[in-house]
Amino acid sequence: MKIVKFGGSSVGSSQSIQNVIDILKQKHASGEKFHVVSSAMGGVTNILTDLAQAASEGYDFKTGLTEIEQKHFTVIKEMIAVKNQNPTFTQIKIFINEIEDLLQGVYSLQELSLQSKDLIISYGEKCSTFLLSQIAKQYFPNSLYIDTSALIKTDNNFGNARVNTPLTEHLLKEYYQQHTENILFFTGFIASNENNRITTLGRGGSDYTAAIIAAALDAKEIELWSDVDGMLTADPRVVKKGFSLSELSYTEAMELSYFGAKVIYPPAMIPAFRKKIPIVLKNTFNPTFEGTRIEEHTHKNMYPIRGISSINEISLINITGSGMIGQIGFSGKLFSLLAQEHINVILITQSSSEHSITFAIEPKDVQKAKQLFRSEFELELETNKLNPPIIEENLCVLAIVGENMKQTPGISGKLFHALGRNGINIHAIAQGSSEYNISVIIKRKNISKALNAVHDAFFTQLTKTLHVFSVGTGNIGTTLLRQIQAQSDFLRDNNGIEVKISGIANSRKMIIDEEGIDLTQWEKAINAGEVSNMDTFIQKIKLLNLSNCIFVDNTASPVTGTYYKELFESNVSVVTCNKIANSSSYKEYKDLRDTARKRGVDFFYETNVGAGLPIIRTLKDLMTSGDRILKIEAILSGTISYIFNNFTGKVSFYEVVKKAHELGYTEPDPREDLSGKDFMRKMMILARDAGYVVEGKDVSLGAILPESCINAPSIDDFYKELKKSDSYFNQLKEKAENENKVLRYIGKLENSKASISLEWVDSNHPFYNLTGSDNIISFTTERYKFNPLVIKGPGAGAEVTAAGVFADLINVGAN
Ligand code: ASP
Ligand code: MG
Repeated sequence: MKIVKFGGSSVGSSQSIQNVIDILKQKHASGEKFHVVSSAMGGVTNILTDLAQAASEGYDFKTGLTEIEQKHFTVIKEMIAVKNQNPTFTQIKIFINEIEDLLQGVYSLQELSLQSKDLIISYGEKCSTFLLSQIAKQYFPNSLYIDTSALIKTDNNFGNARVNTPLTEHLLKEYYQQHTENILFFTGFIASNENNRITTLGRGGSDYTAAIIAAALDAKEIELWSDVDGMLTADPRVVKKGFSLSELSYTEAMELSYFGAKVIYPPAMIPAFRKKIPIVLKNTFNPTFEGTRIEEHTHKNMYPIRGISSINEISLINITGSGMIGQIGFSGKLFSLLAQEHINVILITQSSSEHSITFAIEPKDVQKAKQLFRSEFELELETNKLNPPIIEENLCVLAIVGENMKQTPGISGKLFHALGRNGINIHAIAQGSSEYNISVIIKRKNISKALNAVHDAFFTQLTKTLHVFSVGTGNIGTTLLRQIQAQSDFLRDNNGIEVKISGIANSRKMIIDEEGIDLTQWEKAINAGEVSNMDTFIQKIKLLNLSNCIFVDNTASPVTGTYYKELFESNVSVVTCNKIANSSSYKEYKDLRDTARKRGVDFFYETNVGAGLPIIRTLKDLMTSGDRILKIEAILSGTISYIFNNFTGKVSFYEVVKKAHELGYTEPDPREDLSGKDFMRKMMILARDAGYVVEGKDVSLGAILPESCINAPSIDDFYKELKKSDSYFNQLKEKAENENKVLRYIGKLENSKASISLEWVDSNHPFYNLTGSDNIISFTTERYKFNPLVIKGPGAGAEVTAAGVFADLINVGAN
């Protein structure tokens, strides 16, 4: 026999009651034996509580009562055949009249005791259960309504009474034996004391009723039907990836439900646990959901933890002082004082130096606790043996729960790493020696980010979400968005990574969408966005406070880089192809790295040098593995490579530049390339990454162009001057040809000096054979001393650069 309990929303309307009836019919058809426990119709307990309060303060309660009456009447009209409606109408009307009399009494006396309140709210369950039993009678004529308050006996703790189990079990058994032929419809939530005054079992107590009955009657299972898919790994309103658990142990369910998962009323676990009766959490609105089974032994869980939960609002009290050291009984005294004042202590930690005790309580109790401490420890405070308590507010608890944690090393490490990386400070930690629960106290404003980050860290089989804010929609930016869109399915399926573009900005417009911008429509979306403002964009990123957050800078603007530090400080990683920040002052370069390291976030800029070629990464790997860079030689300007590679035979230098310009290989003003400035920035970044303190002025820059070309006032004038310089360039070329050499513009880092100069190299030189617009770099190091490490390939172009940015992005958080 099963006990089947339906929660408030399951009996909240005709439609949902129809679901309930269907569920019962199905059970009946399959020969299953069951009895039913029902909550009040959804919202009714709250309304009754409010009405009782209103009446005690002299306010109107009639309107609210009519609302309750109508709620039930509507269901009668919709669910019971007309000819049978009368007895139900009559009984509900009687109940309503009784409530009215009680409220009238409260109104007249303007006084509301806990006892009267329990009596008033008990009618919620009476009305709903009677109604449900009457509806059920149409299908199961042996349905019988039973007011459970006569059978569950409690103490006098109105509002949250304690059950007298032996007496209750006796009464239930006795009653049951006399009604073996019936399907019983028990009121949930309500009970009575030894004087037969109505008591209640605490809000949500119908679950408890079901478990009490099941234990007394030796049911084989308890089904709790609500409106959600059982117990989840985390609150799905906050953690979108939270998923339903198929099973968990009593202890795990207890831990998770204490910490906020409101799916089951924790005391309900006790009778079930005592009699080892499985509890199955089901969803009235989703009958295909198999349910979450709570029982003693579960199958091996493939995840290290079962779930994550949180308590949304707590305050922390920190007590310090030399007076506590070695004082046996101090904490005993402290906590019994708190208990006497009914202050619930949620969590405790004490440092092993015994110099401090920290405990968490509900914010409403803070003042009381403070006063209590002041008066009880007056002497210790005056003699400075104890310091005044330090109160921290606006905090919350996040707890990871699971029996698998027991004796598994690395769980707390993973938890702290996930929080640390996302810039979430831990105010206190508690782990019981049972090892079922590790709780951390963090700032409330970080809870959603923390839950998501921790969920990602533990449920690794699920996809990990990267929240990306992409700035710049030029060639590279656009290509990147296209590549991400094209790769998203693959990344999700093969790498378990979901890249969510949560914001896009360019110099004109910007748009932010936490849920992720549809990349097939991003152009439309951004055009409909607001006017771009980098300040606002950055503030929004910070405010959203998303987990695994990355800022991607695909601009050539000097502005974006000024925000990197601020972003790092908010634990946002940065990926960029923009080299301005890295090539500004050394101080700034260093500061950015230090900040990123301190905050545990990533700063990746592979595409600063040689586009997508793995140059920066290689250099870093060499450095971190302890190699020493002796020399770097490189050609890192694709444009200049192209020009020299084509400056052969009869063509003039002027013609080659013009052609390169036309083909789009140069900047709008080709002097940007030919001046070597851009190359110099790359050399500076390389030198810095190789460990040298280098400023722009330290890089000696050999010119390609004569002064007259450089100083020409316009691009047209520049070309005129370039044409005039033909003989100069021809000389360079002839010299090369006469000596069987080629012209190369080569950057060097040697003897801690960086330089770029025009050189004539012969066929023995590794750069001799460079073709097209390729880049090449050779590292001579302690390990690669006689035969340098060479990287060569296309070092420009939107496709390869965007791919480089993409690779950096995927690597964020990989370590
Ligand atoms: N009706 C009561 C409440 O709302 C009991 C329950 O629904 O479990 O708390
Ligand atoms: Mg690169």
